[in-house]
Amino acid sequence: MSDDCLFCKIAAGQIPCNRVYEDDQVLAFHDINPQAPVHVLVIPKAHIATLDDVGEAQREIMGVVMERAAHVARELGVAEAGYRTIINTREHGGQEVYHIHAHILAGKRIGPMTV
Ligand code: 5GP
Ligand code: ZN
Repeated sequence: MSDDCLFCKIAAGQIPCNRVYEDDQVLAFHDINPQAPVHVLVIPKAHIATLDDVGEAQREIMGVVMERAAHVARELGVAEAGYRTIINTREHGGQEVYHIHAHILAGKRIGPMTV
């Protein structure tokens, strides 16, 4: 756990969230400011700041995060229609919370990506 990390505190249960999935390695919860009818964040419980911090030692947990994201999408009933997954990295990527997370956006046709 990283001190002063919002998502570490959520993972530790110190800050509440609207949880949709949890196991010993991963937590998924609804985004507080949803950008689509379904907007869920999937995080590893272990602190990893950004995708740029993912190396060989983080391969397994990131595989688990993505597999659990697909599981969550199926459980929420959005997998068949489809969804978008996004990982934002640092300032130019629009990252606000420096604890890696995969966004799941679904529930409507997500528009084309713009930059
Ligand atoms: P980022 O911009 O870092 O990729 O995404 C961070 C996301 O975390 C944003 O979509 C934002 O709405 C969400 N978020 C920020 N603070 C909280 C919080 O306290 N609880 C929840 N559930 N989501 C949060
Ligand atoms: Zn953290």
